[in-house]
Amino acid sequence: MQALEQINGVLYLVATPIGNLGDMGMRAVEILKAADLIAAEDTRHSRPLLARYGINRPLLALHEHNEQQASDRLIEKLKAGQNIALISDAGTPLISDPGYPLVSRARAAGITVTPVPGACALVAALSASGLSVARFAFEGFPPRTGVARRRLFESLLGDQRTLVFYEASHRIHDCIDDIAAVFPPERRVVVARELTKLHESFLTAAIADMPALMAAAPEHGKGEFVVVIEGARPEPAGAGPSAEALRVLKLLLEECSVKSAAGLAARITGARREDLYRVALALKRAEGGGV
Ligand code: SAM
Repeated sequence: MQALEQINGVLYLVATPIGNLGDMGMRAVEILKAADLIAAEDTRHSRPLLARYGINRPLLALHEHNEQQASDRLIEKLKAGQNIALISDAGTPLISDPGYPLVSRARAAGITVTPVPGACALVAALSASGLSVARFAFEGFPPRTGVARRRLFESLLGDQRTLVFYEASHRIHDCIDDIAAVFPPERRVVVARELTKLHESFLTAAIADMPALMAAAPEHGKGEFVVVIEGARPEPAGAGPSAEALRVLKLLLEECSVKSAAGLAARITGARREDLYRVALALKRAEGGGV
């Protein structure tokens, strides 16, 4: 007799609230109630939310320290026909949260992966920031050390897209100070804090003014944060490098050859390499230096 073909289960990616329990979606509740198993980033953290909605399904932990082994087990269960819902501590799974190995492997195995969308801090902050949402880049958490953080910011200086970062409360002041040290002072930055919660706030200022603004109100340094930075202004055609591109070029010329400085400045600021090369040559000649 031929063995019956096993039908795979479905992997649901279920978004949960980022602070306000009222943001739990109706479909999310239905899917979680019906799932054979809920994979949760931190089962203890998720229990109160699940209890509040009368969801009483078996839980399995999937976090950054057991992602590979937990994914193995979950793929087996999905292949055995179980329907599994993945949730994280808050918001949309995989967005600066565990789940990527599970989803990529499930897709590769031909398992259906279905999103159950809902809250996501980056989308909430960006959409309400007042900055352009036409094009944006989500950069997750910036590096923890100042040197690496400033290097990342420098690499994004010329990006014309709105930039979105997550940041932890114990690093928010250092992060804002580094943003002010690297980005042009007149660009706007929005610090979105405690979204959907009682003390939700949006601080908007020119980058140069943000460190003082945050320092003036200590409560602005507490809670959960999304930082949104206005993108670089497009260079008008034929206008030559911007003041920012020239500043970066001059700094690089102190350490590098004309060619390297022009190439690096173009990559950092998005200005045309040819224009920067021309200016760099002129600067070197003016100071009587070699090329
Ligand atoms: N998966 C989540 C999502 O969809 O937004 C993000 C998880 S990530 C580990 C947590 C970070 O998201 C926090 O450190 C903070 O930067 C941001 N975040 C989460 N909830 C927030 C909120 N209510 N207000 C502001 N930022 C929040």
